[in-house]
Amino acid sequence: MSLLPFEKLPAAKLRTFVPPAIDLGDWSLIGHLFDQLEARAAQANSAAELERWLLDWSELNAALDEEASRRYIAMTCHTDSAEAEQAYLHFVEQVEPQVKPRQFALEKTYVAHLRRNALLNIVPAAIPSAATGRYAVFDRDLKNHVELFRPENIPLETEEAKLCQRYQKLIGAQTVKFRGEEKTLVQMGRYLEEPDRALRQEAWELVAQRRLQDVDQCDEIFDDLIKLRTQIAQNAGFDNYRDYAFRQKGRFDYGPADCLRFHQSIEAEIMPVVCEIQVARKRELELDTLRPWDLAVDPENRAPLKPFSDVGEMVARTQNIFQRLDAGLAAGFQQLQDLKLLDLANRKGKAPGGYQSTLAEARVPFIFMNAVGIQRDVETILHEAGHAFHAQATRGEDLYAYRGAPIEFCEVASMAMELLGNEFLEEFYPVPEANRARKTHLEGIIGFFPWMAVVDAFQHWIYTHANHSPAEREAAYLELMDRFGGEVDWSGWERLRAHSWHRQLHIFLHPFYYVEYGIAQLGALEVWANSRRDRVKSLQAYKTALALGGSRPLPELFHAAGCSFQFDPATIRPLIQLAGSELKKL
Ligand SMILES: [Zn+2]
Repeated sequence: MSLLPFEKLPAAKLRTFVPPAIDLGDWSLIGHLFDQLEARAAQANSAAELERWLLDWSELNAALDEEASRRYIAMTCHTDSAEAEQAYLHFVEQVEPQVKPRQFALEKTYVAHLRRNALLNIVPAAIPSAATGRYAVFDRDLKNHVELFRPENIPLETEEAKLCQRYQKLIGAQTVKFRGEEKTLVQMGRYLEEPDRALRQEAWELVAQRRLQDVDQCDEIFDDLIKLRTQIAQNAGFDNYRDYAFRQKGRFDYGPADCLRFHQSIEAEIMPVVCEIQVARKRELELDTLRPWDLAVDPENRAPLKPFSDVGEMVARTQNIFQRLDAGLAAGFQQLQDLKLLDLANRKGKAPGGYQSTLAEARVPFIFMNAVGIQRDVETILHEAGHAFHAQATRGEDLYAYRGAPIEFCEVASMAMELLGNEFLEEFYPVPEANRARKTHLEGIIGFFPWMAVVDAFQHWIYTHANHSPAEREAAYLELMDRFGGEVDWSGWERLRAHSWHRQLHIFLHPFYYVEYGIAQLGALEVWANSRRDRVKSLQAYKTALALGGSRPLPELFHAAGCSFQFDPATIRPLIQLAGSELKKL
């Protein structure tokens, strides 16, 4: 496809199973490869033969993954190309639905395989002293996936997807008429940064009114989702959906009790700092009370920061930051430029947002974003570069499943890079502006934890009290808002406050998926804290941990990076103290 910014890159390892010239958009050809794998599994009579079989399966997965990524990248880089759109839709509609049941059949074949136990005795080459074998994580995850499957849950999951779509449609249709123009609620967000307080209030209240119109419908959809999810969990043999969701997400290394401890630690250690930040904001804005529309404006009413004028400049300055941080990482970022694995500038005909993708066969990363010259772009390129370094670090791993890590650790790679890179923001700004950007960033990190705790704790309550009444739900939510809401005055808007979780799409679409970011942010803060004591040593640990990919359980990945994987006050206190004391200097 000529629609890609980069040339066809060679596979990191020559194919030995998938034919080199196969058309990976043609299901009839791919289906044969699944048939072959299915047939050959029975002939694997030793651990070595089963391992060979896994690597062939892995090769097929990487080839399919890269095909999907190439089509997705082409489509997002050229939303106006019919060719790119068709190629992408063909893969999503004609190939992927066929692949799914065949993958699951292979997983079942693996779990039932006679040589599976022999495979588990293989020691990881890089860590001969490890507590568990090379295939322990892979084996655990496949077994879990197979065990949780219930055919009777398939129609329920279809129902669930339909409800989620109804929620998305409801939220997507929310617009307001502001000064004669129709605007989406996302577009209205920028008025909360306006120095004119009356304008901010007007914009916020208009959005609030609009949200209130859909409160009952959101509640209805959510009631139906709770019923469905509880049934799905019971079908799989669980008492409640929370316990099912933890298993389904492969959370073997932390449980509900750890999350509840995390919420308590946030309340005890982070809320006082959040309140200090809010008091300072109130003082700077010269206000008596902080209202919901006073939280996003620059407290000194300054114009937005302008870090660069074109994307070439952004890349060059980011390269300088990595140069000062670590020679290995700098070489990695240079490779992205040399191989044209970046499409960063905002332009017409490009999908919104930013992402990092990996070409799974070539084993190289690609970064997509829409830079327009704001500080947020600098944060994004550092973040996505962290993900890209992760992909580069696992290049030598032959098992496809291990070239990706769990989200809780992937986001340590990226969020730590934001903090580490921010140490050198003077590449973009004079000192006062660099400090202003750091301050906003650190306040954002601290301010995220309480909202994460609300979103997570609320879902713990919901799914362990599945038969609650509307009044009980409201009381449970308001209790959390009292614990984690800080000193914001919502008077006059109590009904919206009691339903403010309606705007958090994760609660509807991705239940229990949120605490991952809190866990990762703790890890990122610890990498940063370590780098303050010994930069070379902490960067080395960071790179070592990245190179492990997903081959080890989460606590081992965290420990390799020099982080503790604990959620108690004693772990969080020094990290928040460091962030708090840095903030005071800025
Ligand atoms: Zn990320």
